[in-house]
Amino acid sequence: MTEFRRDPLTHRWVITGFIDSDRPEELIPTLKRNPPEHCHFCEGNEHFTPKETYAHRAEGSVPNRPGWDIRVVPNRTTDLRIRELQKRGQGGIYDLQNASGIHETIVETPKHTNRFSQLPLAQMVKVLKTYQDRYEEHKKNHLLKGVLIFRNQGRGGALVFEHTHSHMISLPFIPKTVENELKGAKRFYDLKTRCIFCDMVSEEKKINQRILYENDDYISWCPFAARFPFEAWIIGKSHQSEYSKTDPATFENLARAIRFTLSSIEKVVGDTPISFVIHSAPLRFDVTEDYSYVPNVYHWHIEILPHALPAGGFEWGGDFFLSPPTPERCAKVLKTMGDN
Ligand SMILES: [Zn+2]
Ligand SMILES: [Zn+2]
Ligand SMILES: [Zn+2]
Repeated sequence: MTEFRRDPLTHRWVITGFIDSDRPEELIPTLKRNPPEHCHFCEGNEHFTPKETYAHRAEGSVPNRPGWDIRVVPNRTTDLRIRELQKRGQGGIYDLQNASGIHETIVETPKHTNRFSQLPLAQMVKVLKTYQDRYEEHKKNHLLKGVLIFRNQGRGGALVFEHTHSHMISLPFIPKTVENELKGAKRFYDLKTRCIFCDMVSEEKKINQRILYENDDYISWCPFAARFPFEAWIIGKSHQSEYSKTDPATFENLARAIRFTLSSIEKVVGDTPISFVIHSAPLRFDVTEDYSYVPNVYHWHIEILPHALPAGGFEWGGDFFLSPPTPERCAKVLKTMGDN
């Protein structure tokens, strides 16, 4: 059964125990390149997945049958469900609890394709709206604090099914990365009473050496201290801490920014793994914490992280990063390559 374990030294949470087998080869899920007729996510193969929790369906179509263009299903692998948190087992310095949360897979198109950036703009907009709808649904559960929306693509990474899909995981914890960003953003706000992300937007526009794409609502650039070659961020030009509160009228422009930025990176790194992550303000905090500052200091954004160079000892051992080209060099290459 899936469980949460907390590292006593760093307080990092790990989700474990969701694959159990005597066969070593089954203990690590690897890339399965099923032909489309066996793909769990293609239209007509709905019986391979758990029952849908949400779908965009043609009028008159029946749930868990063909006739959809976006489909959301519980993720069978991690098998997360909402349960009251209970300490179990081990005790002492080791914190072990039964896992609780929601992990959903968002199937982004009924037709077999492996690239989100190649979907028609209107379909991308539907995916972005689906995130918003599911976000609101997850938020209703009072146990849940942190939410992460992400997509993996490319060979040799964390991908199990190549049919384009994303994940939405909501947990009783705030992701460490978001927690660190919140701390940094608050530090800046306490000094300057301004959002650091909004400041980055104006700074990037002023310097104009790392910008990849810009429209009325969104802008993308290679960040100043990029961890990976060709890493890029996409940020809204008006301040908003929560993805779910974004005006859906801007989603077409968001889709354009994603298409340009993601396709330019794909042209450079090819089929090597890329992670796509949405960082948004937490769903809620502990009742004991004062979080009234969050809407002012935090600003939701997308990070696109290409893993063309695998993380090694320096990265895993030290949380340092080596990125051979500067982000200015990467931006110069990428900005000529995106699809409009
Ligand atoms: Zn498929
Ligand atoms: Zn801002
Ligand atoms: Zn972030």
